[in-house]
Amino acid sequence: MNTESYNNILELIANTPLVKLNKIAENIPGDIYAKLESWNPGHSTKDRIALHIIEEAEKDGLLKPGATIVETTSGNTGFSIAMVSIVKGYKCILAVSDKTKGEKIAYLKALGAKVFVCPANVPADDPRSYYEVAKRIHKETPNSIYINQYFNQKNIDAHYLTTGPEIWEQTKGKITHLVGCCGTGGTISGSARYLKEQNPDIKVIGVDAYGSILKKYHETGELDKNEIYPYRIEGLGKNLVPKATDFDIIDEFVKVTDEESAYTTREIALKEGIMGGYTSGAAFQAVKQIKESLPEDAVVVVVFPDHGSRYITKVFSDEWMQEQGFVQSKLNGLESRATV
Ligand code: PMP
Repeated sequence: MNTESYNNILELIANTPLVKLNKIAENIPGDIYAKLESWNPGHSTKDRIALHIIEEAEKDGLLKPGATIVETTSGNTGFSIAMVSIVKGYKCILAVSDKTKGEKIAYLKALGAKVFVCPANVPADDPRSYYEVAKRIHKETPNSIYINQYFNQKNIDAHYLTTGPEIWEQTKGKITHLVGCCGTGGTISGSARYLKEQNPDIKVIGVDAYGSILKKYHETGELDKNEIYPYRIEGLGKNLVPKATDFDIIDEFVKVTDEESAYTTREIALKEGIMGGYTSGAAFQAVKQIKESLPEDAVVVVVFPDHGSRYITKVFSDEWMQEQGFVQSKLNGLESRATV
């Protein structure tokens, strides 16, 4: 029984549940737990960084009444910044990629944000990219701050201060593997930094997309432009080197496909009753790919970054899956397994 009452919605950020995965993890050694970041009031892990970065800016005297908060976002960070801005009385301007679907944009507008839609498949330094558009808006808007999540160390700090300690306490220090999707890299870097301080033997596995440079950069230290090509999963991988990723703390990157991640997202819902977003499927897909390397006594924590309700017209739509050319028979297989 939760007997608490709260002064505002922001007090509910963090302290998300850790839930054991059962049927879907049957053939995987060890115990696998999902950290359900959709339990945050803005329904994603990004609430943590939005609150932390904005409150740090307040402490530093950077936010005066009526200030504007500017950011680039694939959606989730936008929801979180918009929510924090409304409660704290700031304006919010967001530059989003055109991979972001209409419902997400409507959601951002519902929370009072002003939204600029920018092309996803242009280089980061192109003046049309969402990075450049956000930078320009920040420059042109007096009394504004730019969150700059990909380059802001406070993104890492937010997870060092909250996500990492929560996982340590929730597993009673037994965690052996942390698996997390990398976009900015803040979630995995901050959580891993805390966890490795407690136990340096914990293995940290970053999840990357085909079409993103992160895995190759981790292995070679070079940004290989040949690695960059369009892909579907929003929020996973990057076409630049994010300064909010601590590459040294990540032991290994695993790449996952759009297609397998989509099936796995559906499988999680059908086998566990957990509606995770597309990157939750991506993260668990990575666990499947590394299962041979897991010992029987492994305690694996997989971060599920957001909620599946945001993907009803994408991965949870058979029509959308067909449009992507994903094999329908695999989907049928999933459904029949769920009904036996
Ligand atoms: N999944 C989703 C849906 C996201 O929006 C993001 C953030 N871009 C991530 C995963 C990756 O989280 P991080 O930025 O902390 O690496």
